[in-house]
Amino acid sequence: MTPETNPLLDFSGLPRFDAVRPIHVTPAVDALLADARATIETVATNASAATWTTLVEPLADALDRLERAWGVVGHLNAVVNTPELRDAYHDNLPKVTALHTELAQDLRLYAKYRELADAPAFAFLDAPQKKSIENELRDFKLGGALLPDAKKTRFKAIQEELAQVCAEFDDHVLDATNAWTHYVPNADLLAGVPADVIGEARAAAAAEGRDGYKLTLRMPCYLPVLQYAENRELRRTMHYANSTRASELGANPEWDNGPLIDRILALRQEEAQLLGFASFAEVSLVPRMARTSAEVLAFLRDLGARAKPHAERDYAELAAFARDELDLPDFAPWDFAFATEKLKAKRFAFSEQELRQYFPEDRVLAGLFRVVETIYGVQIRESSAAVWHPTVRFFEITDRAGALVGQFYFDLYAREGKQGGAWMGDAINRRRVSGGIQHPVAYMTCNLPAPLGEGAAATPACFTHEDVITLFHEFGHGLHQLLTRVEVASVSGIRGVEWDAVELPSQFMENFCWEWDVLKHMTAHVESQARLPRQLFDKMLAAKNFQVGLATVRQLEFGLFDMLLHAQYDPAAHEPWDSPQALLDAVRGEIAVLPKPDYDRFIHAFGHIFAGGYAAGYYSYKWAEVLSADAYSLFEEEGVLSSAAGARFRDEVLARGGSRPALESFVAFRGRAPKLDALLRHNGMVVS
Ligand SMILES: [Zn+2]
Repeated sequence: MTPETNPLLDFSGLPRFDAVRPIHVTPAVDALLADARATIETVATNASAATWTTLVEPLADALDRLERAWGVVGHLNAVVNTPELRDAYHDNLPKVTALHTELAQDLRLYAKYRELADAPAFAFLDAPQKKSIENELRDFKLGGALLPDAKKTRFKAIQEELAQVCAEFDDHVLDATNAWTHYVPNADLLAGVPADVIGEARAAAAAEGRDGYKLTLRMPCYLPVLQYAENRELRRTMHYANSTRASELGANPEWDNGPLIDRILALRQEEAQLLGFASFAEVSLVPRMARTSAEVLAFLRDLGARAKPHAERDYAELAAFARDELDLPDFAPWDFAFATEKLKAKRFAFSEQELRQYFPEDRVLAGLFRVVETIYGVQIRESSAAVWHPTVRFFEITDRAGALVGQFYFDLYAREGKQGGAWMGDAINRRRVSGGIQHPVAYMTCNLPAPLGEGAAATPACFTHEDVITLFHEFGHGLHQLLTRVEVASVSGIRGVEWDAVELPSQFMENFCWEWDVLKHMTAHVESQARLPRQLFDKMLAAKNFQVGLATVRQLEFGLFDMLLHAQYDPAAHEPWDSPQALLDAVRGEIAVLPKPDYDRFIHAFGHIFAGGYAAGYYSYKWAEVLSADAYSLFEEEGVLSSAAGARFRDEVLARGGSRPALESFVAFRGRAPKLDALLRHNGMVVS
């Protein structure tokens, strides 16, 4: 098998998307896995002393080939899914995962890395090289590889049970959500609900051969009912059903997640102790920017103290509005969303549809590129490459002298067979190779509306402001990947960046979507070509911070609960709180403003921390927001499109990737440690 017969094995340039077929996947993956294992054997059994060139480089070469080929398969599986490709992906995924598990547990490799780190020659490696070796050693430890055999067996059993219990947690939430239905006999009872939601409910009932309307707890139905249904009793019924999902108050006791929460916490605690840590939070924080749970708690409480008065004001205003204008003197939790929408509509009357007409695709892309070219001193131009769908576009970034910096694909439109959401993926990572530099390549994928029609008669795609923000956000991740100058793949671009700092460059880019100097060049009405009226922009700005106090304390409530649960709660002794629910009640007493009903069982469906990757990490949302707002404040001081500030952000943050701690990069850029002030100011939480 050669690159000529299997394009997945061709690493001479960009992926050959025009030639790759599902039948290529298994033979390519098998060959690359065999190659990687042979390399592991060679370096692990090498009798001479470990050096960068005898240990790290051969492994990096073999893994880079595997990652590039497997990355293509994963990418295609996500954006042009077919049954054949899905089968090929699922057939090979366990094999690829198994190799990474082997690597993480190979004590011969650990000994080699240890030897390299302890050798006098280590001092002569550059900072990214040193960081990559330190990361390897850290990950062997956190992955349980260094435990004695008996403990290692137990560690593995914990991992397996956790994976299973967490999956069950998710299943219960899903089952409880799907099982609940409510039939409404006539449309009068749904007054206020948007017509498309009513249409869906009608169709869902008809599909079962029933009259009337079928309501469910799935978000596209639940949310608009809570927001818009005039029928208060209906809102109350659905609010109760949603708040008690997967709990002892829910419809089916088999779906109660209470016992699973206890089990998950006990397993995480045991895992932490096996590794020699006092709590799960401590283990989680080792590879993060935040250093200790105390630091995270202090951060959340500081922000909470400042946000709470604003949240109280938001709530008082909402309750008064509900009482005076909606005739709801006994304002209740099932009225919050409803009253919020009414107040918002009253105060900021502008239509998303009207706004959208000002954001045709070509203007938005030109506006985005203008910002990036101006502040970072680069040039972006469209180029050509093999792609996986005719609507995909390909671009090159060069420096002012025309030297290649990186390349990226834009796959912007929603279509069948493409996974929802928006994300940035790395296609090729920047690193030094024998022939010079391997330039980075990124995929930027969104699910935006496509143009209508084709050719000259096509109506251009118009984006909502929210869409534009999404595009800027993903492009920020892309720039982190593409503007790196690091030459070691495992810490170049977004790789090796602390998980709680990874959203800094992406959220940073969002700020430009709220700048008049940017928007006035980025907008042109799709018919009249007029730019966005200043008045409309002012309304957008006013609406931006609507109820931001309430939203902030809600995020802080989740973050505090999560960190206290994983840092201080003892699941065996039930101390210092009787139960996770008792802890949540205590946190709410401290920070929450919206009253909660007795039946609220929110944590039973809190998949982020019990089934997803956010355990002891929920604070990251706010953490990264503070960093990105504070980074952006330098641009507010020096000029929104300041190339001097841009050069510094590029040199000290984007270019460094994971090659040094994120805090060091931030301080080098900003000249001081991060502060809350800019975020508070952006959220209108500063009393001037
Ligand atoms: Zn992101």
